[in-house]
Amino acid sequence: MAIIVQKFGGTSVGTVDRIKEVAKKLIQFQQQGHDLVVVVSAMSGETNRLVGLANELNDNPQGRELDVLLSTGEQITIALLCMALEQQGVHANSYTGSQVRILTDNTHNKARIMEIDDDKIRADLAKGHIVVVAGFQGCDESGNITTLGRGGSDTTAVALAAALKADECQIYTDVDGVYTTDPRVVPEAQRLDEITFEEMLEMASLGAKVLQIRSVEFASKYNVPLRVLSSFKDGGGTLITTEETEMEQALISGIAFNRDEAKLTILGVPDSPGIATQILGPIAKQNIEVDMIIQNTGHDGTTDFTFTVHRNDYPNAMAIMEATADELGAREVNGDDKITKISIVGVGMRSHAGIANIMFESLASEGINISMISTSEIKISVVVDQKYLELGVRTLHKAFELEQK
Ligand code: ADP
Ligand code: ASP
Ligand code: MG
Repeated sequence: MAIIVQKFGGTSVGTVDRIKEVAKKLIQFQQQGHDLVVVVSAMSGETNRLVGLANELNDNPQGRELDVLLSTGEQITIALLCMALEQQGVHANSYTGSQVRILTDNTHNKARIMEIDDDKIRADLAKGHIVVVAGFQGCDESGNITTLGRGGSDTTAVALAAALKADECQIYTDVDGVYTTDPRVVPEAQRLDEITFEEMLEMASLGAKVLQIRSVEFASKYNVPLRVLSSFKDGGGTLITTEETEMEQALISGIAFNRDEAKLTILGVPDSPGIATQILGPIAKQNIEVDMIIQNTGHDGTTDFTFTVHRNDYPNAMAIMEATADELGAREVNGDDKITKISIVGVGMRSHAGIANIMFESLASEGINISMISTSEIKISVVVDQKYLELGVRTLHKAFELEQK
């Protein structure tokens, strides 16, 4: 029988009544003749609540114990959903990540899935049971509980779908698909029937949190048909495809943004070979991810160097830069943790010149200053002051006529 993996996000299982609704939906699917493997997130707000508790007790909660704590959120939901299914007369078994066993590496709080043992799941499906698996978690080789990073239940679902060679992986959430941009910021945003993996990867990595980036990478690598749909209303949702449609390509498909960026500039460093690694080496050593990098044209033997990091890493990165500045005899270090990145994404960009110009012109017409720019084949990103985020995204949405899709 066809196996379908369905994932229900936090809002979709946010209350006991919603869990009941999910159970009803699952029973209907099963009656249509599907073998069902269901992945659930923690009830909405629960993971944040747990993080809050950890913050009350520790300045920098991380590592093994944070994973032990955070994994409990999903454990609650799997049990409740199975109880709701049993109440409606359907057999269901719940599994935590380590019970399945979803084997990960040992990078706590950001683990990667390495292998999935599907024996128990297949045995349960053969008995006609619905299998309910806790998202966002696994265990390492020594049996330590690990978690996959925020939004990681999407990745659990895709990885299970790949392991089980499921017909489709369906991500049920609080929007009815992938939109041209976050519909919470631009109410005129339009749902896309399809989007390519390539575009979805860019959208996810540039801040559209509707799918965790690793889930898209996984689905693309293992050819898992992936669909985003609403838990609350019927409809076909958005299919993530390998094919670019035959139809005339839109110039751009979507706009993504990342609110939580910060930038640092070190001024007056020697303009000599090795300077980039002398500046960024100590940052990398602390596992701080660097996003955009700009080195200015040097004059008088010195240059300025700017890069961006996640806002949470800003204080650490600043402390490191001040030490580096002393070592290199730099003139000054400055920074800004109130910046955001807005990106336009689309495979259509490949074959059209002038997209960047439309972007820059329309931002300028609203008086929005761009402080950094980066491009790749199918995306252009700009850094702007955070106060311009909403205006910037709306302006670009209009400029590229995305409300008329
Ligand atoms: P879940 O709890 O179901 O995993 P998430 O909150 O992680 O849900 O993801 C869904 C949210 O993603 C939506 O409510 C929406 O605000 C946001 N989002 C951001 N960009 C987009 C986009 N381009 N299309 C759809 N939703 C988006
Ligand atoms: N509960 C986790 C989170 O809030 C994982 C998920 O929902 O995907 O990030
Ligand atoms: Mg999510």
